[in-house]
Amino acid sequence: RAKADGRGTWRFFEVEMDIRLQARRALELDLREAVAQGAFEMFYQPIYDFRGRRVGGFEALMRWRHPERGLVSPAEFITVAEEIGLIVPLGDWALRTACSEAMRWPDGIRVAVNVSVAQFRDGIVIQSVKDALSVSRLPPARLELEITESVLLRDNAATLATLHALRRLGVRIAMDDFGTGYSSLSYLRSFPFDKIKIDQSFVRDITAADESAFIVRAVIGLGLSLHMRTTGEGIENEIQFERLRQEGCDEGQGYYIGRPDDAGSIPEVLDRWSGRRGATKHAVA
Ligand code: C2E
Ligand code: MG
Ligand code: MG
Ligand code: MG
Repeated sequence: RAKADGRGTWRFFEVEMDIRLQARRALELDLREAVAQGAFEMFYQPIYDFRGRRVGGFEALMRWRHPERGLVSPAEFITVAEEIGLIVPLGDWALRTACSEAMRWPDGIRVAVNVSVAQFRDGIVIQSVKDALSVSRLPPARLELEITESVLLRDNAATLATLHALRRLGVRIAMDDFGTGYSSLSYLRSFPFDKIKIDQSFVRDITAADESAFIVRAVIGLGLSLHMRTTGEGIENEIQFERLRQEGCDEGQGYYIGRPDDAGSIPEVLDRWSGRRGATKHAVA
């Protein structure tokens, strides 16, 4: 009896594994097909400059337009794309698309592009960035690359050399999702980032009188001392927005300012958030 149960359970796991493997294979096939067909789009989310009281740039966020599933977030496919070697062509496409799009924006408005750890292998990202800049003719100072702490996990000389080479091209480098990695602080010591993006998990609880608020304050102070700008991610309401401004954060990003949207939305977003602050938004809404 016990034996029979055991075998039943084992079979159940086998079936479960099989389903997962099939799902994973289907996703891989879908992804390859999508890359071949160019089924990806870039969305853009505004980044608000607290002192300038205007939107100073946009972060490019990739979307996969799936025939059945609709728009799919990169959270669901970037890791798989990395694992099966698709992130390099996808990353090239992302850089070219974002740089070309930014050329259509008013002068000085920046674009931020996420770069994955796999693009750092053998310094591939350097040529990708050079190509995107030369094809689009975007001034390098208007391009910002966002890297996560995973890039620096292998804190080796090659990664640092690549970061310095990118910096020499004239682009800016931002540390994304700061505070979620294993040794966030030591990464700040290993490379002079232009910007620290404070992870949204800290911003979410900033209004509670607890650790999150103190951590955000400390990171902003750190940015000041290290001459790195700070951006608060995931601002969803006016209270969080005002708190970050009061704390002296340089920039803010989140649904409260604007959700990621297609390139067509950009003129209106720039208009709504230009010059006068807050009030402008409500006047239009
Ligand atoms: P990320 O770079 O940290 O981007 C911010 C994520 O937070 C985006 O998710 C954005 O839609 C979301 N977000 C923005 N404001 C708010 C808010 O107020 N509340 C909440 N709850 N979420 C907010 P998304 O677009 O799904 O992208 C997820 C991640 O995928 C990105 O995180 C980034 O790491 C990666 N990613 C996106 N595009 C690319 C790309 O072109 N290349 C690579 N390598 N990675 C990308
Ligand atoms: Mg990012
Ligand atoms: Mg982030
Ligand atoms: Mg993130």
